[in-house]
Amino acid sequence: MDTKVTLNPTPVPLLDLSRQLGPLHDEIMAAISRVVQSGQFVLGPDVDEFEAAIADYCQTKHAIGCASGSESLLLALMAADIGPGDEVIVPSYTFFATASAVTRLGAKVVFVDIEPTTFNLDPREVAKAITPQTKAIIPVHLYGQCAEMDAICQIGREHSLMIVEDAAQAIGAEYKGRRAGSIGDIGCFSFYPTKNLGAAGDAGMLTTNSDQLAERLALLRGHGMQPRYHHQLVGINSRIDSIQAAVLNIKLRYLDASTRQRTDNAIRYGELFAAAGLSTALSLPQEVTSGRHVWNQYVIRIPSGQRDSLRQQLTENRIGTEIYYPVPLHLQACFADQGYGPGSMPRSETAARETLALPIFPELTDEEQRSVIGCIGQFFQATRQAA
Ligand SMILES: *Cc1c(COP(=O)(O)O)cnc(C)c1O
Repeated sequence: MDTKVTLNPTPVPLLDLSRQLGPLHDEIMAAISRVVQSGQFVLGPDVDEFEAAIADYCQTKHAIGCASGSESLLLALMAADIGPGDEVIVPSYTFFATASAVTRLGAKVVFVDIEPTTFNLDPREVAKAITPQTKAIIPVHLYGQCAEMDAICQIGREHSLMIVEDAAQAIGAEYKGRRAGSIGDIGCFSFYPTKNLGAAGDAGMLTTNSDQLAERLALLRGHGMQPRYHHQLVGINSRIDSIQAAVLNIKLRYLDASTRQRTDNAIRYGELFAAAGLSTALSLPQEVTSGRHVWNQYVIRIPSGQRDSLRQQLTENRIGTEIYYPVPLHLQACFADQGYGPGSMPRSETAARETLALPIFPELTDEEQRSVIGCIGQFFQATRQAA
């Protein structure tokens, strides 16, 4: 292949949704218009169709729509009857919502360190964190790659724990041939616009193979009401809007193609980094052989303490990047009373200092990727010369 890198970088956005939405604009507007004309704005036929399509896509018996990924996590724990006195194990390196769902229910969130290669929950650390109060584990499939589910589910079976998969970044990801969200007891998905399957606003989904959990989840998302004004459970209002379902039904048809584009972009980054001689200055994301990575994020590590200055140089050249996540959850101000100090989760803390997400969205061009690599190459060349 041609591995020439660009020296005068062209600007590259971290994410450009307009490139995906442009060609779908008329189709999406027609669907929204149809929902407006129907007057059915909450649940209804578009939601039924979307739930059936997601159950099929995720290889589960049931899929239950809700208002967001954050609330899917909350509903999953409510369905598992998690409350005060219970402990739930969560990786310390994830988005805030994974942990806040636990705290919101009055239960104790127990943070556990990650595996440095995948950034996912380390099953050995999970085993050490089990107590008689442990009720559930929430493995997160971070950046689009599944956690070590065999080992985690094995621990779950030994201690009769609920396994709730946070698959917000991982729709379509696979672990040993099984889809994310179909492996644990409940799968949680987000359709926030930056996810691989993004809505025109907030939306979420729960997947499960259990008839009993599906029934509870469907009740809990609608105030536990069945029939109207008769409340079987104390639930919440977390339904999915028909407009979101109508938009998502259209976008789901393009998900496999856009996941292939993300994968192609990841492969091309690997080739370009190698050709630019940068494979030792930084470490590239590692794909485990047991699964299918869906590349919601392409996250490199810069182990030399230069992450922030590299990021600044990229920003000055109008190349979008992000840090997922700069502060591990056990060190967040709101969890200070839990008593985890600096040094208690060393691998999460190192990740927070070293990770940098590069643009990986499906429509990213070859020229844009060369621009990203060129700018990173210039940075390391300049720092070598200065040294
Ligand atoms: C996005 C995300 C969520 C929350 O989803 P929302 O739809 O934004 O509420 C939860 N967990 C992870 C890992 C996420 O990336």
